Amino acid sequence: MPTKKRSFATRAIHGKKLHPFKGAVTLPIHQTSTYRFADSQDAVRYAKGDPSVYVYSRYHNPSVEDVEQKLALMNDADDAVLFASGMAAISTAVLSLVKAGDEIVSTPTLYGGTYRFFRDVLPLYGVTVRYAEAEDLSSIEALVSERTKLFYCESPTNPTVGIVDLAAALKHVRAAGRKRGVRIHAMVDNTFATCLFQSPLAMGYDSVVESATKYIGGHSDLLAGAAVGPAPFIKGVRHLAKYLGGTPDPFAAFLIGRSLKTFELRVRMQTDNALALAKRLERHPKVLRVLYPGLASHPGHAVAKRQMSGFGAMVLMEVKGGVKGAVRLCDALNVAVNAMSLGGVETLVSIPVYSSHVNMSAAELKRHGVTPGMVRISVGAEGIGDLIADFEQALRKV
Ligand code: PLP
Repeated sequence: MPTKKRSFATRAIHGKKLHPFKGAVTLPIHQTSTYRFADSQDAVRYAKGDPSVYVYSRYHNPSVEDVEQKLALMNDADDAVLFASGMAAISTAVLSLVKAGDEIVSTPTLYGGTYRFFRDVLPLYGVTVRYAEAEDLSSIEALVSERTKLFYCESPTNPTVGIVDLAAALKHVRAAGRKRGVRIHAMVDNTFATCLFQSPLAMGYDSVVESATKYIGGHSDLLAGAAVGPAPFIKGVRHLAKYLGGTPDPFAAFLIGRSLKTFELRVRMQTDNALALAKRLERHPKVLRVLYPGLASHPGHAVAKRQMSGFGAMVLMEVKGGVKGAVRLCDALNVAVNAMSLGGVETLVSIPVYSSHVNMSAAELKRHGVTPGMVRISVGAEGIGDLIADFEQALRKV
């Protein structure tokens, strides 16, 4: 059966070959920095571009490549590059597309690390980022100039779980690009949705970046990132990754390979838990609002239904009492863990003004839609009864 016809779970578990290794059923960890040449002709073959000759693990590693192939298959993409973190993937992918004098157009709500990279680092290299208005994606068109090389967005957004209408945004990007005679690369951070529930490439986007630390890793025990897309783009990303050096460790690749085998099971169960918890929290008198794309009350619910095949497992709640209420809640939880990351099988909570959005001005917080009483919940795979009971007892202390 052609690989593309196999189900998502089969592609995640087996990759291209159903039985790739003689002997080991699992992915061997090629824990090596370098590779022994059979003789010096190997070096010559490598220099001539023979991909079967391995040289150095910053360039390539069989354990890493196995995971890259699986991620490409899961995204229905030509190729993927694995990185040491999500930020390594994002920074390398972006820098592979822009140079001094170029411009990026972005939607305003982004993961804090990406936003700071755009705000504090890119301008040092002569790259300008312009932000569309969250409520009016047609504002993209006026921001595009003949220097625009990249459109970058994230949906659902971190931390407010906002939904960007990806089709509408792309329509404006393409219209403005045609008007100005430029081809703009369109990139999506797909970390929250994952490739199980959202396929930006199938919608016409050029590439996907993500923090594989989150749902791909899924167990809060590794850092990794990925860039996924067409072969020429990935070639450029790999080229730059060699020099920026954010390549992953083979052991992290092994852990990801193992995590991919349960990816669909985990993410579906976490998503079911998220909907049940969000519904319960929405009715609670101490909760001012709950933002979860699967709730009819979410302003992006209709768009999420159109562009996602599942709503994911990230929930945002705003409690009474501002940041004091948020702190009291987080400190009273017993099952959910007060920690900054997301995507693992254990439920994590964090307060955006103390974590992803710390040290941002009032105007920046407003633009990102972040308020002090917000608590971001990364819903895990625990028993849903235990989770609901845990939040209910903690809310009594708010
Ligand atoms: N993108 C999103 C949406 C994130 O939430 C994060 C981290 O929280 C990143 C990118 C960065 O990933 P990493 O922490 O693996 O570098």
